[in-house]
Amino acid sequence: MIKAGVVGWPVDHSRSPLIHGYWLEQNAIAGSYEKLPVRPEDFAAFVGSLHDGGYAGCNVTIPHKEAAFSLADDVSEEARAVGAANLLWLENGRVKASNTDTFGFIESLNRVAPGWNDGAGSCFVLGAGGAARAIVFGLLQASTRPVVLANRTREKAQELAGRFDPKGARVEIIDWHQRQSAVANAGLVVNTTSLGMHGQPALEIDVSPARPDCVVADIVYSPLETPLLAQARSTGLRVVDGLWMLLYQAVPSFEAWFDVRPAVTPQLRKLVEDDLIADRERE
Ligand code: NAP
Repeated sequence: MIKAGVVGWPVDHSRSPLIHGYWLEQNAIAGSYEKLPVRPEDFAAFVGSLHDGGYAGCNVTIPHKEAAFSLADDVSEEARAVGAANLLWLENGRVKASNTDTFGFIESLNRVAPGWNDGAGSCFVLGAGGAARAIVFGLLQASTRPVVLANRTREKAQELAGRFDPKGARVEIIDWHQRQSAVANAGLVVNTTSLGMHGQPALEIDVSPARPDCVVADIVYSPLETPLLAQARSTGLRVVDGLWMLLYQAVPSFEAWFDVRPAVTPQLRKLVEDDLIADRERE
């Protein structure tokens, strides 16, 4: 029996048990995936007890991602780039850490918008929080196109850009209030802010001047169709919603613990979509 789980405080909202539970069943693996509520002051002890607790590893969510990165014996390039880990696993007695958001985002583009990287135009990223770090890192690796970055707090955009591109050769920062000016030359527009989430205002931007081959992605997944995506779709642009990233970011975790590369199937997507809708109806 291989055990894994998601550690957070709180952890009730996590969809990870649904995703990993589906894969355990589909692959007929004798394993379990639990929600593991752990207070910040207990997190280091929890990581130290993974082996004795019989865990192959765990996912890590708010507020433990930076601590997971610091406590691990070995960290992946992705975790180092982001400065935070959402995956821990044990290997030869060592605690390994990675960050799977980069993989999750790039795979979501590859799956839903194949050829997204073939056209011209910049990768225009809105937001400079934790998720944006993983995404900008991924885009700089996967694409040779310039990245344009706009964030409400310009200093955070500068900090993010300086992390990956200290000479300013690949990432251009523009002011938040000038974001509209970057649309016309974008081959990819990505919302990484929380704008557009249920209970939040929409992201104010008009994507209709974008190139016809521009792909518009939103990593917000509740609602699935944010006002940004609805607008992009009605303009005829290809869109990628945040549920794809959520599903793909789980793939490397499952593989690390259970040694099987799981598939993101339409059935899995429907399962999580229905759960998101049920959550909304409960509220
Ligand atoms: P975060 O670190 O807190 O960053 C939040 C970002 O949103 C910052 O850039 C912030 O700008 C911006 N923002 C917040 N309110 C704003 C407003 N009123 N106007 C303009 N900008 C605003 O959060 P995160 O972890 O990066 O997550 C961001 C979103 O992505 C959340 O909705 C989260 O659920 C989603 N997400 C999805 C996935 C997925 O798998 N699909 C993965 C991770 C995150 P400032 O810097 O100016 O505050």
